[in-house]
Amino acid sequence: MPAELTFVSPNRARPPRHLADLSPQDRQAAVAELGEKPFRAKQLAQHYFGHLESDTAAMTDLPAASRERLGEALLPRLLTVVRHVTCDGGMTRKTLWRAFDGVMFESVLMRYPDRVTLCVSSQAGCGMNCPFCATGQNGLTRNLSTGEIVDQIVSVARDLERGEVAGGPGRIGNIVFMGMGEPLANYRRVFDAVRRITDPVPGGLGLSQRGVTISTVGLVPAMHKLAAERTQVRLAVSLHAPDDELRDELVPVNNRWPVAEVLDAAWHYADVTGRRVSIEYALIRDINDQAWRADMLGELLAGQLTHVNLIPLNPTPGSKWTASRPEDEREFVRRLQAHGVSVTIRDTRGQEIDGACGQLAAAEK
Ligand code: SAH
Repeated sequence: MPAELTFVSPNRARPPRHLADLSPQDRQAAVAELGEKPFRAKQLAQHYFGHLESDTAAMTDLPAASRERLGEALLPRLLTVVRHVTCDGGMTRKTLWRAFDGVMFESVLMRYPDRVTLCVSSQAGCGMNCPFCATGQNGLTRNLSTGEIVDQIVSVARDLERGEVAGGPGRIGNIVFMGMGEPLANYRRVFDAVRRITDPVPGGLGLSQRGVTISTVGLVPAMHKLAAERTQVRLAVSLHAPDDELRDELVPVNNRWPVAEVLDAAWHYADVTGRRVSIEYALIRDINDQAWRADMLGELLAGQLTHVNLIPLNPTPGSKWTASRPEDEREFVRRLQAHGVSVTIRDTRGQEIDGACGQLAAAEK
């Protein structure tokens, strides 16, 4: 056993190293360490990111003797499908994954007439403890590795490309970090994953930065760090209340970084990237959906480069809360618009398969 592993308990072992964890330079070094020619790194990456192929047996341009060695060292199986569940006429598909250590997490594929979006997990569980969110109820199990984040995408993209998902062959255009976990609490691995997602093939998958959304509870220092990366990634902030008193309860990390600081960081992000920041607001009946709170939110957001996504609350097991009445939802929208704030209501894809916002909880059920 390598020395570094003798000091950690077995269930804290790290996921195996994978090609997707490594920058192009590090891939070359890793390949060279195996006694292979450095250009093999690029060939492997072309297969994995370009052709969505993980099986080295299919990589016939590699010498037979090298395939197994390279495969074992750089393309270990990271994720096993426990099951797929579909709804919305097959246009929404949730996948439950099991990692090398038995840990489970989910992704959700959503097909729309004009685009395909994959919602990915960045952590198994979540430490943010928001009381209305299913994932938050069991705490954080562990961070996902960059490879585990990227492989959710590569696996689903492969199924799509090969026509194994209802609706025929397709391509993923958008990635949203809105599955399990707080992406900015796993900053380095998530940001490396963003690089792998957006670097051109064979560096990565070659998706547009503008098609990637990172959603956060509002970890202010990490929001600033992300702004300093100078990418075109979209930032979404889960606000859910315009006032600290209520937000302290709905998003407990607000006790550390209150509304004003979170919004300052959001406007700074909009400033340096030129991109509209999404404000996520789950409408919860009689909790945060009052007309006066809509006005208060409208005043905070007026004149900023922002867009509000109202999410009808998806009730989670054991929760005392439910979605707003239609008339309250309408009034909330009207008042935001009266402040000149752009607003849409998020669809509730995946509700009946517990695959909608905030319902992801990878229990065997
Ligand atoms: N931790 C990140 C990303 C994960 S959740 C974040 O909080 O932003 C993605 C979105 O779903 C967040 O806006 C979250 O607040 C919201 N959400 C969580 N539980 C929900 C529920 N039960 N109904 C509706 N939206 C929910």
